[in-house]
Amino acid sequence: SHSRIINFGAGPSALPVPVLEEAAKGLLNFQGTGIGIAEISHRSKEFTSFVENVSQLIREQLGVPPTHSILFTQGGGSAQFSAVVMNMLARYRLLHPEAKPEDVDMDYVVTGSWSQKAAEEARRLGGGNVKIVADSRGHSATGKAFDNIPPHESYKFSKDPAFIYYCENETVDGVEFSHDGSSPTSFPFHLLPQDSLVPLVADYSSSFMCRPIPRLADHAIIYAGAQKNVGPAGLTIIIVRQDCIVDVDAAVKCGAAPVPITLSYKTLFDSKSLYNTPSVLAIYMTGLVLERMKKMGGVEYYEELNRKKAGLVYDVLKEGEERGVFKPKVKARSESWMNVVFDVLGDGAERRFLEGAAQRGMSGLKGHSCECVVNGIIAGIRVSLYNAITEEQAQQLVQYCREFIEQET
Ligand code: PMP
Repeated sequence: SHSRIINFGAGPSALPVPVLEEAAKGLLNFQGTGIGIAEISHRSKEFTSFVENVSQLIREQLGVPPTHSILFTQGGGSAQFSAVVMNMLARYRLLHPEAKPEDVDMDYVVTGSWSQKAAEEARRLGGGNVKIVADSRGHSATGKAFDNIPPHESYKFSKDPAFIYYCENETVDGVEFSHDGSSPTSFPFHLLPQDSLVPLVADYSSSFMCRPIPRLADHAIIYAGAQKNVGPAGLTIIIVRQDCIVDVDAAVKCGAAPVPITLSYKTLFDSKSLYNTPSVLAIYMTGLVLERMKKMGGVEYYEELNRKKAGLVYDVLKEGEERGVFKPKVKARSESWMNVVFDVLGDGAERRFLEGAAQRGMSGLKGHSCECVVNGIIAGIRVSLYNAITEEQAQQLVQYCREFIEQET
């Protein structure tokens, strides 16, 4: 009825139809105010209480403890690449006013394009040494592929870094930490420096609220752009431990670099995320998605759903691999539930795969790789299975993959 197709895109990505219908009503009239959500003041009592509720919905469903605050801002995950560095260097400076920049380490775990980008931004900003404490490329067959989560024994954390950074799910490369604590591809929480509250920072942009977050309370910062699992682009959600909300201006007096006012966690905290005009519409739609998630059974419900969806797709890939049609790109136990990446083998086969998918009303399956885009080549296939993709839609893709395998062999 909506002439909608199945959108397996990596972000912005599919949102639940009932939410879109509700949002369409809110665009005309938000909560009976007679004013549309894109028109209402962000200082109105209706909107400020809506924001409080969005925060509460995240706190409840993820079990965010009272030691942590939930902040909303703009600028996407990319702005957090910078904000993390600046706020955590300010914090380090307040704790160690005598330290010289060359004495300050920033530990980056690099498992894919996004954590690599974050590390590059830290290097650009300066103020400390960027230490790559693990790099998955060194554990790939070619020495060049982000196709695995590195084994625990390869992590070499610094003694007292300003922070330790990792990306939970690499959207481009399809690599994700296992949530089974005993797996060698889980995050090595047991290896973190023990003697201090070293801030552990995680980019959850493409896996936020798709399942519970392991050891959430042990993280200092967890952030995510909304535009994959929970809403439209324009909203960034940050969960911050209180000791990481620091007086960045006091840190300047100790020699830290000034932090732009809108990137300072203290600004966001003090203003209840309303220092300046927020992305009102994005917050609204995210609130609707989170309400719906709660009704469906919260992150535990989505964990089961997402486990099933990913299982179905990886199973058919395996069938295709045995018949020489598909080649999964990621090593066993490092595979993402959210972004499944693989190659279609054979001359022109990738194009045939995409055309056949389009004919069946499925889109967003083209992979992404900076190098390949430059060369005008499609970088393999990527299937994104965010929360709004239903089991039935995943089944339709699987059905198509089976037909494709038959057709190609
Ligand atoms: N981190 C991850 C894991 C991402 O997937 C993305 C965006 N796809 C980003 C960071 C950058 O986010 P944004 O585009 O919101 O700046």
